[in-house]
Amino acid sequence: MLIDSYDRVVDYIRVSVTERCNFRCQYCMPEKPFSWVPKENLLSFEELFEFIKVAIDEGVKKVRITGGEPLLREDLDKFIKMIYDYAPDIDLAMTSNAFLLKGVAKKLKDAGLKRINVSIDTLKPEVAQKIAQKDVLKNVLDGVQEALHVGLKVKVNMVPMKGVNEDEIIDVLHYCKERNMGIRFIEYMENVHAAVDIKGMNSDELLDVISQHYKFVDEGFDGHSPSHYYSLEDGYKFGIIEPHKDDFCSTCNRIRLTAEGQLIPCLYFDEAMNISAAVKRGDIKEAALILKEVVKTKPEKNRWSDPDGEASKRAFYETGG
Ligand code: SAM
Ligand code: SF4
Repeated sequence: MLIDSYDRVVDYIRVSVTERCNFRCQYCMPEKPFSWVPKENLLSFEELFEFIKVAIDEGVKKVRITGGEPLLREDLDKFIKMIYDYAPDIDLAMTSNAFLLKGVAKKLKDAGLKRINVSIDTLKPEVAQKIAQKDVLKNVLDGVQEALHVGLKVKVNMVPMKGVNEDEIIDVLHYCKERNMGIRFIEYMENVHAAVDIKGMNSDELLDVISQHYKFVDEGFDGHSPSHYYSLEDGYKFGIIEPHKDDFCSTCNRIRLTAEGQLIPCLYFDEAMNISAAVKRGDIKEAALILKEVVKTKPEKNRWSDPDGEASKRAFYETGG
């Protein structure tokens, strides 16, 4: 079992399989040129799998595939199947923008994927175009429909932004509620890679909007999820991820692996160790030692609430959000 210095059990790894993306979301990588990491710097699926096996053997029970956009990486279904065949009981999930999901949802489900989180910030094509800088909405919604049709569990992530999609909070909530999908509103996280004029909404502002349409009860946190949950009178639950607070840090169970092998103990800190060399030379013992070392260095709290602390400059498209 992996236990950090604050007695938290670490049993969840988020694996970014690429930093590439087919969107240019304003809050993530609005100006990133198409100058990607050279292919040879990326870990192959076989190498990533070798490390995931180590993590599973050490007690990891949940693996989330993310990016960049994970569906851009060829043979993703084969990678999912490798993990599933090794440990069928693992909670195997993915986060995606869903643009390419329609054609592959069944293949991913058949390979062993159980759940998918999809980013939907708007239901208006022109707003989606403005956020992603591409005409994306139809493909995204078709992808979600297909995922539901093949039996994947789908949850939606929405980043509410003032003057952009703040008038759609209730519409997106309805869209999810009608389809029995969960929704989590993510407070915009300021970062040096995002467009400068974005103004996020904090949880109080979000709750204020929702309270004009619904009565809800504060359900607090559920297990290790960073979401603060609220339930409507009919029992439907929505979540808010509030990174500007550190309430979820005391139950944090996650570490992150980038496509280049950086193993990161906390999204908000620059500290990391690289597993690439160890995995490439097949040194599984060394990879396991690095994993334990990284878990040991997991900080107690994120840095948003620390007035002297500076948030990491690492991009969300590298860490997988
Ligand atoms: N491309 C996939 C997607 O968009 O779902 C997976 C990677 S993306 C980096 C993972 C999550 O990070 C998405 O839900 C996205 O909305 C969120 N995200 C990215 N930048 C963010 C920011 N500045 N603030 C809050 N959430 C952000
Ligand atoms: Fe791509 Fe996801 Fe970042 Fe948008 S949030 S640019 S879809 S990685």
